[in-house]
Amino acid sequence: MKIIHKISQIREITKNLNVSVGLVPTMGALHSGHASLIEKSVKDNGFTIVSVFVNPVQFGINEDFDKYPRTLENDAQLCEKLGADVVFAPSVDEMYQDTRELTLVCPPYSAINKLCGKSRPGHFDGVATVVSKLFNITKCTRAYFGQKDAQQLFIIKKMVKDLNFDIEIVPCPIIRESDGLALSSRNSYLDENARKEALKLSRALNYSKELWQKGIRDKDILRDSALKILEGLDVDYVEIVDPETFEDWQETGKKALMLIAAKIPPTNTRLIDNMEL
Ligand code: AMP
Repeated sequence: MKIIHKISQIREITKNLNVSVGLVPTMGALHSGHASLIEKSVKDNGFTIVSVFVNPVQFGINEDFDKYPRTLENDAQLCEKLGADVVFAPSVDEMYQDTRELTLVCPPYSAINKLCGKSRPGHFDGVATVVSKLFNITKCTRAYFGQKDAQQLFIIKKMVKDLNFDIEIVPCPIIRESDGLALSSRNSYLDENARKEALKLSRALNYSKELWQKGIRDKDILRDSALKILEGLDVDYVEIVDPETFEDWQETGKKALMLIAAKIPPTNTRLIDNMEL
């Protein structure tokens, strides 16, 4: 398996491939969640590229770009073990000549004025831009995204449709620890106590799902019971949307997706999770 840092080298490699190419875009610090995407790509495609790039354009000024974990050597070992063909790990300079003078891909306001888009202004412009660049650089056939970042997946699917990218987007289920905590590179910021607190996210989702299964469809009851479990955390949002449209869920809607974002004190680590009810 090769580790490649230059766009020109990736282009050279993919130019003459006559097999399908799977792309798994990541920011590195790989865990079993990422591994599930890589395994699926290796199974589905003749060639798999894992990109490892902490994208400055999708971080706000007070966010964790500088301290985000960077573990390229371990990441590459895992990718090799899983059968990936290339790790593409460009530098910021390789990806962006000047981030202040950059052509951005901007998802529509209706898709970003809620949930993570609302609390992280500019975040999804950064995501859509870097993902478009990775699509153009790798010329992938398929790209793999986790349902853990449900709003991101929704926005990428819409971007691919709106901009006619000839790429199949493959959604992959959320991988959790045995106690329910959704795997995240940011879990490495948590000490033992904070980790216990972080379990409240999946617990709240599971409880709401139980209520849903008992027939409860009152949005306030579902949200309030989740908020009760989340007490002690700095909750950013608890929302219920229609998973197809990401519009607010209406009580006549058959399917409902509950999404939570919260900071875990005292670490200030912002975690997200979601579950179909
Ligand atoms: P990140 O490195 O956090 O940007 O994530 C890269 C990809 O891995 C995204 O498509 C995420 O949705 C996906 N991912 C992250 N954590 C998980 C998880 N626990 N289960 C499934 N997919 C995940």
